[in-house]
Amino acid sequence: MKKHNYSAGPCILPQEVFEKSAKAILNFNDSGLSILEISHRSKDFVAVMDEARDLAIELLGLEGQGYKALFLAGGASLEFLMVPYNLMKENGKAAYLDSGTWASGAIKEAKFFGETVVVASSKEENYNHIPKGYTVPADADYFHCTSNNTIFGTQMKEFPSLDMPIVCDMSSDIFSRVLDFSKFDIIYAGAQKNMGPAGTTLVIVKEEILGKSGRTIPSILDYEKHIKAESMYNTPAVFPVYASLLTLQWLKKLGGVAAVEKLNNEKAELLYTEIDRNPLFKGAAAVEDRSNMNATFLLNDAAHTDTFDTMWKAAGISGLPGHRSVGGYRASMYNALPIESVQVLVDVMKALETKV
Ligand code: PMP
Repeated sequence: MKKHNYSAGPCILPQEVFEKSAKAILNFNDSGLSILEISHRSKDFVAVMDEARDLAIELLGLEGQGYKALFLAGGASLEFLMVPYNLMKENGKAAYLDSGTWASGAIKEAKFFGETVVVASSKEENYNHIPKGYTVPADADYFHCTSNNTIFGTQMKEFPSLDMPIVCDMSSDIFSRVLDFSKFDIIYAGAQKNMGPAGTTLVIVKEEILGKSGRTIPSILDYEKHIKAESMYNTPAVFPVYASLLTLQWLKKLGGVAAVEKLNNEKAELLYTEIDRNPLFKGAAAVEDRSNMNATFLLNDAAHTDTFDTMWKAAGISGLPGHRSVGGYRASMYNALPIESVQVLVDVMKALETKV
């Protein structure tokens, strides 16, 4: 039986993506060859890469505005250092918002390159909210933020307008909601949430911001080299890129980011309403910063843990335990999770109330 998959990532993808990818492993485009055994330089794969790059830009509404899309290796974590390598000037400085574990990972890498100003942090409150009311130093080379904090279940609802490049780690909410994406100069996201299997990272770069750091950048870490090579500087992660393309095609068919945002809002509303109504539970994140992708919540009385865990497992739910740094539960409701799965969880939460 197919599970209701709340995994935080890698995570649920559309069923048709699983089916089409499985078929392509056996026989890609009726070529008599597997997608796993063809050259990345073959006509068929170059077409996959080109369409995936174009579709990513199209779905974000960034066509004709000087943006390039890349599918790189090394995970979102490699972008933590590629960003400062490409943007921070020698003896320059960068500004970071510390809103969670991944933001702090990005800060750690930036410090290898130069002065890294943390404009605000919610670390002292275990990252239960998004810091606000901060000032970004006007002489920073760029500002970096994390749009959705996967572990703590908080999501930025507003982004500053600044006179410098804005870089955003959108790993866990890319393609989930409409934003003015042209506010950002670099957007990066590991594929393994809303886009595809682990193994590739989507990087969207506004080309005009590159080439200004004055640094000598090793080729494999240089965005300009990857752009010039049309994301084929080295062998790309052929299969993850193909599965990402299938997910992007699925999203386009669904009506794009605006259509999926509506569904994501409905799912989040259904679950948060129950978290707030049910006296047995409480939300872990500040209400105004709650994430529509990762809902974190706790039992008010830990004595009910075993009963609740037995009940949701029996209902076919998977991947619900929270990250160890928050405890409790985390329901990750990525684009491909159907609202029916959220209803199953809500029904189990209601059933617990009648049982204890
Ligand atoms: N940023 C965010 C917001 C994440 O959720 C994650 C991983 N879940 C990462 C960065 C790190 O991604 P990767 O494992 O692809 O390096």
